Amino acid sequence: MALNARLDHRKPLVFDTHELGRRPGALQRLTREFEAPQDLGIQGVIGVPEGAPVELELRLESVMEGVLVTGTARAQAEGECVRCLEPLELELEADFQEMFSYPDADDRGRPKAEPVDDAEEDEDRLFIEDGLFDLEPVLRDAVVLALPMQPVCQDDCLGLCSECGARLTDDPDHHHDATDIRWAALQGLAGSLEDGEKDEMSGEAPRPAPANEKQEK
Ligand SMILES: [Zn+2]
Ligand SMILES: [Zn+2]
Repeated sequence: MALNARLDHRKPLVFDTHELGRRPGALQRLTREFEAPQDLGIQGVIGVPEGAPVELELRLESVMEGVLVTGTARAQAEGECVRCLEPLELELEADFQEMFSYPDADDRGRPKAEPVDDAEEDEDRLFIEDGLFDLEPVLRDAVVLALPMQPVCQDDCLGLCSECGARLTDDPDHHHDATDIRWAALQGLAGSLEDGEKDEMSGEAPRPAPANEKQEK
């Protein structure tokens, strides 16, 4: 018996290849609906809520070294806009294709040999165990790839007002008087620098010259 725990055929993402058989070229199509496992998606950004329905369409093709699995998963993903933080939903459609290899390509009765020399090459390989394969890691990767890293509620979302947090898309003319006052202050400063010699703003950088002027008057 292999060292790793046996796959549980009752798990929704474990599939049985016995019906398909090992004759190369054999095809099997199937659909399955299951409840999303925990953390399906990009954590903290967007994902399929745990327990939400996921529809799976699969095509299993028997090839010499294993089973080539091609499929699509569809579900409703939920997250929030990275600009305005509004909740958002999107239709997720994740395509994937993955090879599940027979651990015993030549002799199906022989126990699986632990790959030592080719550990790096075999690291990412997925295997069929006792005629079963687990699609969960493949599905997880495909879902992450299909989801946006920076989801937005709409392409031209204007985000939030930096002053008060209002959603600018709802109110494109939104502004604050405080902002205007600051602008006015900046413009005033620019004006006084242009004028050069005026010293009404006593808090400015030290200027010895005006003091001399006053003494002369
Ligand atoms: Zn938004
Ligand atoms: Zn505001």
